[in-house]
Amino acid sequence: MPDPVAERVEADVCVVGAGYAGLTAARRLHQQGRSVVVLEARDRVGGRIWTTPLADGHPIDRGGAWLAPQHDAIVGLAAEMGVSTYKTYVAGSHLLVDDGRMRRYKGLIPKISPRAVAGIAWTQSTVDRLARTLPIDEPWTAKRAQEWDRLTIRDHLDSCRIPKGVGHDLYETAIAGLFAADATEVSFLHLLMLVRGHDSLNTLFSIEGGSQENMVDGGAGSIAQLMAAELDDLRLSTPVRSISQTQDKVTVTADGVVVEARQVVVAVPPMLTLEIAFDPPLPDDRVALYRAYTGGRETKTLVVYEQPFWRGEGFSGQTAGPGSPAEVTIDASPASGTPGVIASFSFGPVAEAREAIDPAERRATLLRTLADRLGPQAARPVEVVETAWWTEEWSRGCSFAYLPPGVLTRFGPLVRAPLGRVHWAGTETSALSHGAIDGAVRSGERAAAEILSG
Ligand SMILES: Cc1cc2nc3c(=O)[nH]c(=O)nc-3n(C[C@H](O)[C@H](O)[C@H](O)COP(=O)(O)OP(=O)(O)OC[C@H]3O[C@@H](n4cnc5c(N)ncnc54)[C@H](O)[C@@H]3O)c2cc1C
Repeated sequence: MPDPVAERVEADVCVVGAGYAGLTAARRLHQQGRSVVVLEARDRVGGRIWTTPLADGHPIDRGGAWLAPQHDAIVGLAAEMGVSTYKTYVAGSHLLVDDGRMRRYKGLIPKISPRAVAGIAWTQSTVDRLARTLPIDEPWTAKRAQEWDRLTIRDHLDSCRIPKGVGHDLYETAIAGLFAADATEVSFLHLLMLVRGHDSLNTLFSIEGGSQENMVDGGAGSIAQLMAAELDDLRLSTPVRSISQTQDKVTVTADGVVVEARQVVVAVPPMLTLEIAFDPPLPDDRVALYRAYTGGRETKTLVVYEQPFWRGEGFSGQTAGPGSPAEVTIDASPASGTPGVIASFSFGPVAEAREAIDPAERRATLLRTLADRLGPQAARPVEVVETAWWTEEWSRGCSFAYLPPGVLTRFGPLVRAPLGRVHWAGTETSALSHGAIDGAVRSGERAAAEILSG
C-alpha cells in the first residue's frame, strides 16, 4: 500500500544501502554533479563495517577491520580522507591447539608433521595455479569452470594429499573460514574466484603482506563516516521496500519517503535483494541467483583487556584451535596498544552451535579457552563485545555471500549486469578483492562509472 504521507523526492540517482559500495557510488556521482539520495535501512552507515566505542571510548571494529597492502582502492580512499592505517601486531609466537596440545611457532607454518606441511603446500599451490587460469572478470568462462563448479571445496580437499590430522583440520578451518561456511557447502569454483581476486591463498591467510596486515586508526568505519558527511541527502533508518521502473524513471519506495530518479544503485548484500519488491518482477534467472547466495555464519568477539598482556609473555595473540570456542584469534588492539584487544572468530557450524548455547556459558567457554592459551589473565577481560553477523537483520551473513556448486556457471554473467535502470554494487559483485572492503569500494566505482558513461 502506498504511504499517502510519505515525502516525495526527485534525484538523478537513488542509492540503496550505505555500506562502502553504496557510499562510494554515491560520493563519486555527487562529485560528478549528479543529485543523489542514499537510503540506508540501519541507523548508521558502514554496513558490515561497524565501528563502535568501548566503555572507555576507544573505537573497535565489530565487523570488517583489516586491509591488505594490495587493497589500493580502500587504502587510497583512506589516504584521500586523511585517515591513517597501522600494522597489525605480529611479534612473538603464535599458537596452534590440537586435542589440548599447544604448539608454539613463528611465521606462517605451525609445527606439524612434514607430510602435513608438504600436503598443505601442494594443495595451496594447486589452488593458486588453477585460480590463475580464470579470466578475472568472468571466471565462469574458464575452460574447466563447469568441472570445478560441480565440486565443493571438500570434494577438492578430499582429492588432495593432506594426511588426516591437525594439519588437515587446520587447512579446512582456514579455507572454510574464508567463507564462514562448511567446506561441503561452497563451490570449488567460488574458492578459485576468491583466490583469483586476491592473488593467492597465502595473501588471504597472511598478516604480513596479506589480508590482515593493516588496521585503520579510529576504526574501519571512520572512513565511511567521512564519506557520508560529504553527501547532501543520506537517510538512515529508511529501509527500501520496493523499486519499480518504467521507460523513463525508477521509483524507489522506502519507509517514509518515495524517491523518483533516473537510475538506482542497489548496494545491499545479495540475499537481501529478494526482500525488495521489484516491478516489473525480477526475471526468474536473477531470482534463482539471489536465492542461491548464502550468507556465511561468523561470530566475531572482541575481548578487551586493560593491556595486551600476552605481548609481554612473548605471544603475538594469533592462535588457532579448529572446532574450539575460539577457532582463530588475532591481536586487534589499537595503534597505541592500549587497551589490549583480542578478536576471536568462530565460523560456520561451530558458530551456529555456539549461538545455540546460553550467552553466559558461551562467554565462559570462550574465556576458559583463551586462558588455556594465553594464561589466567585472559579470563579477566574488562569488556566483551560479541556479534553473530548472520543474525543481523540487514546483513544476514558475513564476511560475504557464498555460492554452492552449479550457480556461478549458470548465472555468473548476471552478477553485475544492469537490469534496465537498476545497477548493482556490493563486494559480491567485484572480481578484484572479492568479498573484502576493497571489493565493495571497487564495485561502487564501477556502478558509478556505468551511470556516468550512460
Ligand atoms: C565480521 C566480519 C569481518 C570482516 N573482516 C573483513 C576484513 O578484515 N577485511 C575486509 O576487507 N573485509 C572484511 N569483511 C567483509 C567486509 O566487511 C565487506 O566485504 C564489506 O563491508 C561489504 O560492503 P558492501 O557495501 O558491499 O555491503 P554492506 O556493508 O553489507 O552494505 C550494505 C548496506 O545496505 C543496507 N541495506 C540492506 N538492505 C537494505 C534495504 N532494503 N534498504 C536500505 N538499506 C539496506 C545495510 O544495512 C548495509 O548498510 C568482514 C565482514 C564481517 C561481517
